[in-house]
Amino acid sequence: MEIDLESFEFFTFAKKLATMSLLTVGTVAFDDIKTPFGHAEKVVGGACTYASWSASYFTNDIRLVSIVGDDFPSDEIDLLHKRGVKTEGLEIVEDKKSFFWAGEYHDNMNQRTTLATELNVLADFDPILPNSYKNSQYIMLGNLTPAIQMQTLKQLNGDPKLVVMDTMNFWMDVAMDELKEVMKHVDVITINDEEARQLSGEYALVSAAMKIHEMGPKFVVIKKGEHGALLFSEGKIFSAPALPMARVMDPTGAGDTFAGGFIGYIAKSDDISFENMKRAIIYGSVMASFCVEEFSIEKLKTLDENQIHARVNQFVDIAHFNM
Ligand code: AMP
Repeated sequence: MEIDLESFEFFTFAKKLATMSLLTVGTVAFDDIKTPFGHAEKVVGGACTYASWSASYFTNDIRLVSIVGDDFPSDEIDLLHKRGVKTEGLEIVEDKKSFFWAGEYHDNMNQRTTLATELNVLADFDPILPNSYKNSQYIMLGNLTPAIQMQTLKQLNGDPKLVVMDTMNFWMDVAMDELKEVMKHVDVITINDEEARQLSGEYALVSAAMKIHEMGPKFVVIKKGEHGALLFSEGKIFSAPALPMARVMDPTGAGDTFAGGFIGYIAKSDDISFENMKRAIIYGSVMASFCVEEFSIEKLKTLDENQIHARVNQFVDIAHFNM
């Protein structure tokens, strides 16, 4: 099924210049990544980096909050500026190192081993939101210390339209109570299947989503790696397909890229209904499918709207059938 990009309401948003503001907070980092296809040493990574690059294809008012050391390349920050990402909220600390993470994927690329997590500048991060960020309408609490996610929320003086949070098992292991506190203040949580099981103590994903829902978020998005994603809200379920991929080099950042595409699409369309979130899940999945094709953020730097729409069409095609 081919979609006419000119006439279909679904895509008309692409013609509009987005004015909705999106605040992204999370790590901006260096990664060392080993996959069966190669080894990328000291490449740019971080949840906020992936989410911001991904969202930049949907909205041109992104307000980034993070911290790096003076080892972080300034040309990478310039590239973000060119994508409409404001970095007034990016603290650069002299004589300190950026957050560093090393991971290795084995033959099953759905599973990885964390080899190192060096907090470095993140250990003392106490984000101060610039005044110009405080009225942001859409908030993406990227994967980060729950205390910092909370600290960010507390400084907002407007009433955001939607707060989305991402997290990971690392924070469940070291800061579960703080994580649960943040969950009370968000509308949407994006989490992978294993993490949903760990957080809820339930194996079946429907039961896990119900338990997580009771902890606060009205919408629960469960990412299943290369097997698609699920959206749960008040008894409703949407299952997004997985796109069979021809090339997977490095799954790092796929979750953050998904989250950035998800909230970027919602900010652009300015519609927080369940129906629109289904579309947002597809856009998030599309952005994640690009992310995994190259190491680090390399693929995300090269995209354009036509490529994104073509891949949305592929998603529509593979999930469509007549009864
Ligand atoms: P993902 O593959 O979506 O889980 O995201 C991987 C990215 O998250 C990498 O670029 C890392 O720099 C970053 N990362 C890894 N561990 C953490 C952590 N504990 N907190 C925040 N960001 C992390």
